[in-house]
Amino acid sequence: MPRIAYVNGRYVPHAHAMVHVEDRGYQFADAVYEVCEVARGYVIDMTRHLDRLDRSLGELRIAWPMQRSALTIVLREVIRRNGIVNGMVYLQVSRGVAPRDHVFPPATVKPAMVVTAKRIDPASAASRAASGVKIITVPESRWERVDIKTVGLLPNTLAKQKAKEKGAQEAWFVDPDGTVKEGGSTNAWIVSRDGRLVTRPADFGILRGITRATVMDVAGKLGLTVEERPFTVEEAMKAREAFITSATSLVMPVIEIDGAPVANGHPGTVSAALREAFFDVAEKTLA
Ligand code: PMP
Repeated sequence: MPRIAYVNGRYVPHAHAMVHVEDRGYQFADAVYEVCEVARGYVIDMTRHLDRLDRSLGELRIAWPMQRSALTIVLREVIRRNGIVNGMVYLQVSRGVAPRDHVFPPATVKPAMVVTAKRIDPASAASRAASGVKIITVPESRWERVDIKTVGLLPNTLAKQKAKEKGAQEAWFVDPDGTVKEGGSTNAWIVSRDGRLVTRPADFGILRGITRATVMDVAGKLGLTVEERPFTVEEAMKAREAFITSATSLVMPVIEIDGAPVANGHPGTVSAALREAFFDVAEKTLA
């Protein structure tokens, strides 16, 4: 089945899916995005993703590119046209196309929108979760408004590339006080010695992950306590478990941080239980 993308009102072959050179997303990273998981033919947590999109757009004063209900139809149509049962759907909205100038273009310039979808093999994701992933730490180097989901991801790409070059799969941004912010594309968690789930508050300084929110719901169902507070790299290394969350990796156990094992160096039972229960608890919208 050929891949199809949605670009500004048209469904086009992926190979010919182009945006203009003066798209403000391309020129200034003046754009926001969302990634939703597609699992077993359902879009996962669509309401929460579109609520966060609404917030990101609002913070940057970019208008919705279309009505929210129409946007859900486009997302599902891209999934359908690509025959995706398990994978992800990506949505990006930029401030639009205008002659290059830092200040906002006139209100007559309409936001631009692209949507793509990709298949992900659930078996390979499951085997990755069974073995766990390795993390490196890097100093926080991003701007203050990482709570807005913009496409300005250069520090994140550099951190993740560094992780890859060191044989790891994710990098955690760490503040000067030693506390963990989040990963390049994931939120960070530990299971403390007394069995509590610990993750940094999402008021500022990190992205309020949708998977993070749903994992809190899952934790509640499993009778686990969640404590929203910063934790240090040192504490994570000594924790019972560590894991990361995102729409594409769900709950992914962390087995090593900067070359040192977390607990016994194997994925733990709490992360496995959260991962297992995730689909049932999450909101599911038929694609
Ligand atoms: N933090 C960052 C920096 C991210 O890019 C992502 C993934 N978009 C996340 C956290 C996880 O968010 P979500 O659970 O909504 O995918």
